[in-house]
Amino acid sequence: MNDQCRKSHFGNCSDIRAEGYCLFHHPDKNHKQSQLFYAQLVDEEDSDYVEDDDQLVLAGRADWAGYVFPPPTGKPANAGLTASSRLFANTVFSREVDLRRARFDGQVDFSGARFEDRVDFTGSTFSGHVSFARSVFKGGAFINHCRFASRADFSGAAFRWDANFSFSEFVGPARFAGTLFAADASFIATIFARYAEFTGGEFRGRLDFTHTVLRQGVGICDAGGEVSRIHRPDARREAFRIQKDSLQANGRTADADEMYVQEMRSRRQAETHRTPGSLSIRLSHLLETMLVDWTCKYATSWQRLLVTAVVLIFVFAGIYHSGGMLSTAGIYDMHREDEPVTTFGAMLYLSAQTFSVLGYGDLYPTGWLKYIAGLQSLVGGFTMALFVVIFARRWARE
Ligand SMILES: [Zn+2]
Repeated sequence: MNDQCRKSHFGNCSDIRAEGYCLFHHPDKNHKQSQLFYAQLVDEEDSDYVEDDDQLVLAGRADWAGYVFPPPTGKPANAGLTASSRLFANTVFSREVDLRRARFDGQVDFSGARFEDRVDFTGSTFSGHVSFARSVFKGGAFINHCRFASRADFSGAAFRWDANFSFSEFVGPARFAGTLFAADASFIATIFARYAEFTGGEFRGRLDFTHTVLRQGVGICDAGGEVSRIHRPDARREAFRIQKDSLQANGRTADADEMYVQEMRSRRQAETHRTPGSLSIRLSHLLETMLVDWTCKYATSWQRLLVTAVVLIFVFAGIYHSGGMLSTAGIYDMHREDEPVTTFGAMLYLSAQTFSVLGYGDLYPTGWLKYIAGLQSLVGGFTMALFVVIFARRWARE
């Protein structure tokens, strides 16, 4: 009989050996072994069960890497303690928790748990429902490379330090409703096979959704503003970006466009945030705001651009009109050059013609109004180009 546990490299084996494994690492525990497992797990010198509060307090390090947690046995495993799925609910982990490559075969409830130090779940698998609802993570939380085969609930949890969910896979719905991320949150290449809910959360640090897969969408922002409170402009930009992608994938192009506008505006804020004193950034932002945000909301609204075009045609007509009255410059008709044209209708005609870069030349400006006309044809040409961009964008997407 082999006395060495196959997971002995974790260095945390139990004395009880069976079929090539120790009790803790044994992958297919029978009922009796399961009972024994939970009894052994909490029956450590430095763990303390406070019966009144229904609370387990672990004073020492939880050195549980590679452990296979059997489904709850539902029977008392220790004095006063039920090895139920709620075993870890409200548990206080006073020191570091090492649960790398652990396996949870049943549902597991860490709701209300307090992790006073770093938690490492790297590479763990959860086959049942998992709840970390309202749990508090005071150190870094490494919940990366995990697999959640069923529902995972982190609602109301508080990550006081960095939270890393990168490369994890959520097969069931993932809830992060009202979750606080006080530092950076990483979801790099995380797969959400079902809906990922981030509503009502708060993000104070950086946010990274690079290569995140959202098969059924995400709820983190909405068209009316922010569903979550996101402090940093670069994090807001990231949130709007994935919300946009998610809406786009679900065919909600109008809402996706709205997110795109917000993404672009957050990008501007993030740039200003990074280089606060830069005059060139401020100038280019001012131009960007005037030329593509106000005029057509970053080429998402042809209606807005149409209104802009009409307004510009009237404004320039007004300038031609008043220019002729206030100075010697004026608008002349090539067929009647003895006196300037003064009707507003003619000014509108000239303005529309110049704006569309048509330039018949039957009416023409003199004096400084020539330069105004030159400027208007530039503005007009740019506006026409924006129309093309808007429609090309719309059709290219469908
Ligand atoms: Zn072992």
